[in-house]
Amino acid sequence: MREQLEQMRQQAMAAITAATSEEALNEIRVKYLGRKGELTGLMKGLGALPPEERPKVGQLVNVVKDELEGAVEQAMSAAREAATAQRLATERIDVTLPGRRHRLGSKHPVTLVVEEVSEIFAGLGFAVAEGPEIEHDWYNFEALNFPPEHPARDMQDTFFVENELLLRTHTSPVQIRTMLKQKPPVRIIAPGTVYRCDSDATHSPMFHQIEGLMVDSKVSFADLKGILTVFTNQLFGQKTGVRLRPSFFPFTEPSAEVDIACVICGGSGCRVCKQTGWLEILGAGMVDPEVFRHVGYDPESISGFAFGMGIERIAMLKYGISDMRLLFENDVRFLRQF
Ligand SMILES: [Zn+2]
Repeated sequence: MREQLEQMRQQAMAAITAATSEEALNEIRVKYLGRKGELTGLMKGLGALPPEERPKVGQLVNVVKDELEGAVEQAMSAAREAATAQRLATERIDVTLPGRRHRLGSKHPVTLVVEEVSEIFAGLGFAVAEGPEIEHDWYNFEALNFPPEHPARDMQDTFFVENELLLRTHTSPVQIRTMLKQKPPVRIIAPGTVYRCDSDATHSPMFHQIEGLMVDSKVSFADLKGILTVFTNQLFGQKTGVRLRPSFFPFTEPSAEVDIACVICGGSGCRVCKQTGWLEILGAGMVDPEVFRHVGYDPESISGFAFGMGIERIAMLKYGISDMRLLFENDVRFLRQF
């Protein structure tokens, strides 16, 4: 039995010396020192020895057990240290190296114009209002005084969804929704996406508008011209001339097209303004009494004006972009300039 013990001790010590990982050492511990391990097995054989031998051999077993446990523990901590040292060596980073910079994105010109226009009108007391892009015929046409046979309701211009639902063809339904919810005075601008069945070099089936509406007890055409003059001066520069030409929209009466002096040539005539010296930038007018009746306002006691402009057109003029399609191609080389 002493020989057996000595043999096992040597085997175990050799295994411990050879082991390099914590897992391997754990296995050795289980194999020799575990509850079903070899050393425990030997202890069970003690009963078969002559009584005077038992204490000596028992003592010897305990000495071997302590020795092996100590050796495993020592090897374990050495393995742990080695593993840590290796991790430190391989995962070492130089914190003094400069970081990799992510390229910053930039705002789309359409977003820039929406933000700038919103800011200018915020300074004039206008709040931003929004509405759904899928709109009901009543809000998009009927309440805005479009007679049923009006050409803008034709299939060629409008994307119909189903029944009376359509993709809004302008941001004007936001006027209706706002006036239905709110009593005068009203001062809002409504930026948003609009849709028309129209696609060529200068038209996109999806584009953006900003709508404006001001309603109060004594709003006049002079207020409209004043507000738009302040706005265009701030957007394009202090001395931009403004010109109003008579026009027609179903929801305003009287109506006007608003021109500014050409931002490219300053009014002397160029290719962009087709030698006229003027650029058309928005449509406007006094809100038609019929529109007020649709939302329950009394046209005898209040008045107001509305205006609307295409954001892409403003962006093209402001940033000198010659082709509208550039705004929708999402070429980062183009967009990064803004
Ligand atoms: Zn010009």
